[in-house]
Amino acid sequence: MSSHIARTVWVLGDQLNRNLAHLRTARPSQTRVLFIISLDKLRRAPWHQQRLHFILTAMRRLANELTDEGFSVDWRVAETMRQGVSAHLEEFSPEYISVMQPMNRAGQRLIDSLSATMPITVTPSDQFLCSREEFAEWASANTRKDGSLLMEDFYRWQRRRLDILIDPDGEPVGGRWNYDDENRLSPPKGEHEWPAINRRELDDVDAWVTDFLASVDGLSMKGEPPDGLWATDHDGAMQQLQYFLRHAIDEFGPYEDAIVSDEPYLNHSLLSPYLNIGLLHPAEVIAAVKELSNDIALNSIEGFIRQIIGWREYVHGLYWWFGPDYVNENHFNDDAPVPPSFTGAHTEMNCVAHVAKWVEQDAWTHHIPRLMVLANLATLAGIDPSKMMRWMWASFIDGAEWVMAPNVIGMGMYADGGRMSTKPYVSGGNYISKMTDFCGDCSFDRKARTGDKACPFTTLYWDFLDRNRDVLRSNHRMARVYANLDRLSDIEEVRERAVEVRGRLIAGTI
Ligand code: SF4
Repeated sequence: MSSHIARTVWVLGDQLNRNLAHLRTARPSQTRVLFIISLDKLRRAPWHQQRLHFILTAMRRLANELTDEGFSVDWRVAETMRQGVSAHLEEFSPEYISVMQPMNRAGQRLIDSLSATMPITVTPSDQFLCSREEFAEWASANTRKDGSLLMEDFYRWQRRRLDILIDPDGEPVGGRWNYDDENRLSPPKGEHEWPAINRRELDDVDAWVTDFLASVDGLSMKGEPPDGLWATDHDGAMQQLQYFLRHAIDEFGPYEDAIVSDEPYLNHSLLSPYLNIGLLHPAEVIAAVKELSNDIALNSIEGFIRQIIGWREYVHGLYWWFGPDYVNENHFNDDAPVPPSFTGAHTEMNCVAHVAKWVEQDAWTHHIPRLMVLANLATLAGIDPSKMMRWMWASFIDGAEWVMAPNVIGMGMYADGGRMSTKPYVSGGNYISKMTDFCGDCSFDRKARTGDKACPFTTLYWDFLDRNRDVLRSNHRMARVYANLDRLSDIEEVRERAVEVRGRLIAGTI
């Protein structure tokens, strides 16, 4: 009888894979599976509704698959995770509950505190190719004399140890580690055919989740409802992987940094949400890439695996390596709120209007709108980095604390004072003009830094450098921009315009 099952496996909402450590060897006769929906967590932020729908639907589908396999599944809705675990223990009295290492610190703290009074055992996570413990070992051995770590060092270490595009002599296939000179092109001029986007039909499981979310009191959601863009099970995620490798990857490299106003997706894989909640494992992605590697342009394969085994795993490792206080770092002491234009208020900044619309529509944009439009403007305008991080976490379908802390606090906003990046990723309108087609249709002039028509990015860029001379001028990578700043004859007018722009940005009137 099911009440005699001694072991429970508790599956967290970002560990949704039958083949991960906690579930891989589980058998229905010996294991009950527990899913908990914490109402407290649902109410904690104004989540994008597609994000909540995506996670809950994926949980529900895995619960259904396990039920079909013969497992006894306890699908529990509780005020808090703690209450959910207590109620499960009371009803089923398992000898112990097994849970895999959580992906974030809040989860870790919860499990640590529950384990003090409840029979909970923690299984090491195998959700990444490089575990947090392996990363710590690598980081200890590879910290440079100035205290920095380099993604490029980590990436090459991963390539070699995982044997991905490595020749028998240990050198990279093609003789180069990096194809940036062939990648990161501006958008193509004129007509261009971009890969089609697949959408699935929503079904009764989607409808069940939609009804459930509508029934939760006190829930505040934003963004547009699901339209089938995101798969919610392993099969759907694998189909998207195969589609990307057969129809989109060839031009991924060249256009990975481009932004086109009518084309949110370009040649991007759209796989990050699946990887981040476990529907896909990075090993599955790498195996599929290896299978087709002879048919794909080397610069594009390299650009793609750099994202999967390089950046993604590096960001995860840094999140744990940097420690719990990292999320509160605020190098420039910024305190402004997230601007209304990011959350759908009307703006005349054509770039921001498009990117905000994409976030509203899909809970997603690729990395360059995130970095060079949203995080760039947030840095230039003095937005509180912690508020910006939380906003992005709640707004993006692939958000998580481990994703957003290094990407926003570190790379996006330089709020960590340079622990992740050697200099701030900031730019005025010129970079946005080079990599996008936004500026031609904008009511602002990307080149102007003063006056009513001055591009807010351009004004705020020079003002940011000016305001932060004390902390940035000694950075040798900033020497050239500070030499340029010193040559500006209109810096007083720039400062005045910047005060006006920052005020209007926060008030939502620009
Ligand atoms: Fe954005 Fe400035 Fe270009 Fe307008 S001119 S689209 S505000 S960068």
